[in-house]
Amino acid sequence: MEYSDRELLDKAKEAMVYSYSPYSRFKVGACVLTKDGHIYTGCNIENSSFGATNCAERTAIFKAVSEGRKEFAKIAIVSSSGLKTYPCGICRQVLIISSLIVLNCN
Ligand SMILES: [Zn+2]
Repeated sequence: MEYSDRELLDKAKEAMVYSYSPYSRFKVGACVLTKDGHIYTGCNIENSSFGATNCAERTAIFKAVSEGRKEFAKIAIVSSSGLKTYPCGICRQVLIISSLIVLNCN
C-alpha cells in the first residue's frame, strides 16, 4: 500500500494519543514507512529513570525491526507542543543509520 506524507503524519498523530508522558507532559507520535510499504507507529514512553525513556521515533523503528523490517523510507514525527518537533540526539543516531527522510509537521 502507498501512503502519502499527510497519511503518515495523521498516523503519527493517532499514535501520539498513546503517549505515556506523566513527567514532561510532552506527547510525541511517530510513523515510519518501510521501503516495502509497511508502516509502524510509536509514541514516547517515559520512565522515572530518564535513561529508560523511549522516544516515539525509536518506538516505531524498533517495532518495525522486531518484525523483520530493516529498510526505511520516511518517518513522520508530531507532538503536542504545536511546534515542529525534532528528534533528540539518540534518535538522530538511529535515524541516520536507518537513512530516513524526516517529515515534521504540527
Ligand atoms: Zn529521541
